[in-house]
Amino acid sequence: MIIILDAEASDAQIEAVQSKLSSMGMETHISKGIQRTVIGAIGDERKLDKEALEVLPMVDQVIRVMKPYKIVARESHHADTVIDISGVPLGGNQVQVIGGPCSVETQEQMDHSAADVAAAGCRLMRGGAFKPRTSPYSFQGVGVKGLEMFRQAANRHNLPIVTELMDVRMLDTFLEHKVDVIQIGTRNMQNFDLLKEVGRQCQTPVILKRGMSATISEWLMSAEYIAAGGNHNIIFCERGVRSFETAYRNMLDVTAIAMLKKETHLPVIVDPSHAGGKAWMVPALARSALAAGADGLLIESHPRPAEAWCDADQALSAEQLKGLMDELRGIARVLGRDL
Ligand code: PEP
Ligand code: MN
Repeated sequence: MIIILDAEASDAQIEAVQSKLSSMGMETHISKGIQRTVIGAIGDERKLDKEALEVLPMVDQVIRVMKPYKIVARESHHADTVIDISGVPLGGNQVQVIGGPCSVETQEQMDHSAADVAAAGCRLMRGGAFKPRTSPYSFQGVGVKGLEMFRQAANRHNLPIVTELMDVRMLDTFLEHKVDVIQIGTRNMQNFDLLKEVGRQCQTPVILKRGMSATISEWLMSAEYIAAGGNHNIIFCERGVRSFETAYRNMLDVTAIAMLKKETHLPVIVDPSHAGGKAWMVPALARSALAAGADGLLIESHPRPAEAWCDADQALSAEQLKGLMDELRGIARVLGRDL
């Protein structure tokens, strides 16, 4: 950390800053110039309260030099982390596509979906039993029995399941149902108590979706909450951010993929379905995500898209999912990856 003091700072005021820093466990290095006095504070600055220094007399500026996140940062672990999802690797050379419906509806719909997802070549399946809906009057998900239907359908095709956890009180139920990947949705990216428990109570891989208007730094800090609890199996998912544009659901932030791959060693996937919000847009966004370096995709599909209980507009049919997978396989090959 660098502390810049006004040129008028007296020796006593400089010493006051130094003793504050040493009480915080930091070593100091002073450099006195004509215009400014600069104090370099050496030590782990992550726990330091910047404001506690900014309030001291004659302190002009306090600048952090370390990243506020630690475990998730690439500077702490250079190689890409590959997460093992019940035998399926995510984050390595093989690109993973997670297909499946927005929500679990019926056993028949899940059986049909699982067969379609497996036939398309996806190795993981998605489906929400608990749905975060804007309106309390909309369908809220079928709940716990949805986890059972999902498990039963997916097991037949050996597909690990990805499903959203909204409430910390359901964590034990998710663990009892052996959910393979816990999804933390956009609306809960900064539900810090939920993040802490998912970090503390399990090693289950977590897909952490980006908050609707979250900065990259806020997103990384949310992941750090999970990691700090002990669960390092975290996958970032870009799903579009809220913007000024109304022509589509969200703006897919392709730039975030490149940025995250630089900042973190953890896998990054993209959800083109919730970004575009329209089925016809999904292939274009999926292609761009792979080209930008995404390690995987989360794509909504439904046996009868028009009849989907949730997000019908953006669901791919079985045929569309299969066609997209074939196309993406070619793109992955060009990129030196396999799918
Ligand atoms: C979902 O994936 O089902 C979902 C609700 O997505 P998001 O949290 O990105 O809106
Ligand atoms: Mn959805």
